[in-house]
Amino acid sequence: MKGKTNLDLSGKVVLVTGASRGIGRETAVRLAAAGARVAVNYCRSEPAAAEVVREIGQQAFAVRADVGEPGQVRAMIDEVVGRCGRLDVLVNNAATFDLNPFDGDDYERWQRGWRRTFELNIFGAANAAFLAMQVMRKQGGGRIINVASRAAFRGETEFADYGASKAALVNLTISIARGCAKDNIISSCVAPGFIATEMAQSEIDAHYDEIVGQIPLRRVGTVADVANVIVFLASPLADYLNGTIVDVNGGSWFH
Ligand code: NAP
Repeated sequence: MKGKTNLDLSGKVVLVTGASRGIGRETAVRLAAAGARVAVNYCRSEPAAAEVVREIGQQAFAVRADVGEPGQVRAMIDEVVGRCGRLDVLVNNAATFDLNPFDGDDYERWQRGWRRTFELNIFGAANAAFLAMQVMRKQGGGRIINVASRAAFRGETEFADYGASKAALVNLTISIARGCAKDNIISSCVAPGFIATEMAQSEIDAHYDEIVGQIPLRRVGTVADVANVIVFLASPLADYLNGTIVDVNGGSWFH
């Protein structure tokens, strides 16, 4: 029917990094519900990834890779393409987040934090995008969806490395948008605020009233709040979005 809303991802192959729990897990489940075949990347949590695959069923399979390791990123992309013959959507979701305060007294720890955060959150995403786009170019196009953060725009007082890595990821998104649309590869980005996951739980627990007090909608986000937007960005409904950044933060930060 002409004009019918289309969230159907049947026939599409999607790789979600860091899909063993949290936002990545929910995104994998919802993309599969929309019809996609989903590669569930994990690093340490094999049983959790196996549980995601079990929940989704035959449309899913797990792929182990430390996205911070360039060789493992190559093996991950090769495995997905070897199994499915194509890769339509890459969701760069895997990330690390740790306190690394300006006034710490351990210089080595400070450097380790910056190095590890950038290796995974931005170099890993850029490497996966580079290799995925080689495949996408050959098959006539694809999508890169990056999971950034409100931290990209707000600056962070206790984890500047994380904020800087997410700012770089936003910039990668718009660079791909400008540089790769000629190959029918489009990119977009979500920038969540506080979402109730293992990553954010200790911050939410420690500063609940302050955090919720800054959110006009008066609640932290759910994994579904973010996953639904990613499914939309992966779908034909978002065909004309390129370099778009979607804030998913309940109105807690504007830029
Ligand atoms: P989470 O619950 O801690 O999950 C992180 C996922 O990343 C896990 O599946 C983990 O898998 C995977 N992962 C960690 N290191 C990895 C590596 N080296 N290689 C591959 N996978 C790895 O985190 P989340 O809150 O869902 O966060 C998902 C994304 O949203 C991240 O990009 C994060 O920065 C962003 N975000 C989250 C919030 C929030 O408030 N939660 C806010 C803004 C942005 P294994 O356990 O298998 O290693």
